Amino acid sequence: MSAALAPTPLEHDAWPLWVKATLGVAPGAPNMEEPASVDELREIVSACAREGRSVLAVGGASNVVGCLYSSEPCTYVSTRKLNRVLEIDVENCTVTVEAGAYGGELERALNAQQMTLGHYPQSLEISTVGGWIATRAMGTFSGRYGGIEQSLLALAAVLADGSLLETPLAPRAVGGPSLAAMFVGAEGTFGVVTRATLRIYPIAEAHVHDAWVLPSLPAALDVARRLVQHGLAPAMLRIYDDAESGALMAGQTRIEGGSALILAFEGEPEVVAAQHDAARRAMSAAGASSCTPLAGAWFERRYNAPAFLTRIREQGFIGDAIDVVVPWSLALEAHGTITAAIREHGASACYGHFSHFYHQGSSIYFIFEVEARDDEQAAQRYGEIWAAVMARAEALGLGVAHHHGIGAVRRPALASTPPVAAALAARVRDAFDPRRVLARENLRPSGAVFPAVPNVAAIPTPEGGSRG
Ligand SMILES: Cc1cc2nc3c(=O)[nH]c(=O)nc-3n(C[C@H](O)[C@H](O)[C@H](O)COP(=O)(O)OP(=O)(O)OC[C@H]3O[C@@H](n4cnc5c(N)ncnc54)[C@H](O)[C@@H]3O)c2cc1C
Repeated sequence: MSAALAPTPLEHDAWPLWVKATLGVAPGAPNMEEPASVDELREIVSACAREGRSVLAVGGASNVVGCLYSSEPCTYVSTRKLNRVLEIDVENCTVTVEAGAYGGELERALNAQQMTLGHYPQSLEISTVGGWIATRAMGTFSGRYGGIEQSLLALAAVLADGSLLETPLAPRAVGGPSLAAMFVGAEGTFGVVTRATLRIYPIAEAHVHDAWVLPSLPAALDVARRLVQHGLAPAMLRIYDDAESGALMAGQTRIEGGSALILAFEGEPEVVAAQHDAARRAMSAAGASSCTPLAGAWFERRYNAPAFLTRIREQGFIGDAIDVVVPWSLALEAHGTITAAIREHGASACYGHFSHFYHQGSSIYFIFEVEARDDEQAAQRYGEIWAAVMARAEALGLGVAHHHGIGAVRRPALASTPPVAAALAARVRDAFDPRRVLARENLRPSGAVFPAVPNVAAIPTPEGGSRG
């Protein structure tokens, strides 16, 4: 079941600033190794350790925060040849897969056996299992299937000294801390994941998608909170602020000032019908207007790249998305203050939506666009916007990232990790990799990590310095 190899020459990952920085620049030959076996990978990592070179694992290079950006030379190790689906165990609902498998290939292999992973990030076709684990990725149907942390049951990884770690597979961790869980969000710093066993599900028999427009964002958040906390469990739930609702509903009749809400239920037909009825009653009580076609339109376009990525070549244009996590009690304040910060720092457009929900709160995903005089000014504003958003998120005590990870762009935000936690994190890292062979710069607080954008003199840091 080996998938076709996707090309992965690493000119950049999908971090907009790095994409912008490399436009029109002839790509240098990257130092890219492509091991075809775990033994070959172990030899490469061991050789790098001996020679003091840093190793950066590369999956689909689709991360959007600069996880693969390194300010110093390093050896990139692509997992693209480690891409086999090894075993689909329908009875125990697990799939064991090599880490370089792309999401779309894996999902099609599962669908052929009437199973699904349930992990559908917008980047399904361009991201890999290893990348999902390393960035703590999340798919759009997280209400039913959770994030990659809920899917991951066991893994194998090549450690910094070339040894191979294999964690046990059981329906629940047996005792002691879960080593597999430590690799979630580690951004390649603990080991190169070679294989993972993930939870899978029978394909649901019934699927319902529906949409409404609520009178306001507070009304939409209120009804969503009650649905989630009372256990109605939508497989997918999305709430758009006024600006993004407007963009979403362009060309349709819309209620001014309204907030679009899209949801989906999946499962047994009778259960789905009952959930849908309960949701309809809740929406009607909240004064919502039905807007069902919006749900179909969203579903059709769910894997399309965001519009700002398609405009990145335009002179003076840059855009990005920033994800944060909020408790319910701060959701509105966080949305308001971060939207204001983005606009105050020169964004020409700013949209926000809530798309992953928990008993205690949700994610907020801000999309911003900058239309500046030239690329230099665009990059300047870009840095100011990121710094302002991180500062406001920290001031409110929010989680400064939800599912995109830390990468290069959030490394300055790590500086505010409390000292005891920072010291402990460093000691844990020492235990895995005392010589910092793996992903040396990742998860390391730093202000001086931005790529030089051609014609860009300086990008401000949150501290007010410059990253020229
Ligand atoms: C259009 C678009 C839509 C997106 N939508 C979503 C979305 O819906 N949800 C979401 O969560 N993200 C989304 N992303 C972000 C991105 O797809 C995720 O961050 C994804 O998990 C990255 O996987 P990758 O294989 O491309 O990893 P890469 O970008 O190649 O690497 C990311 C990090 O993982 C490490 N890594 C990769 N493979 C391994 C391995 N085998 N072992 C150890 N470390 C490894 C790398 O060293 C790096 O630190 C989107 C990106 C784009 C461009």
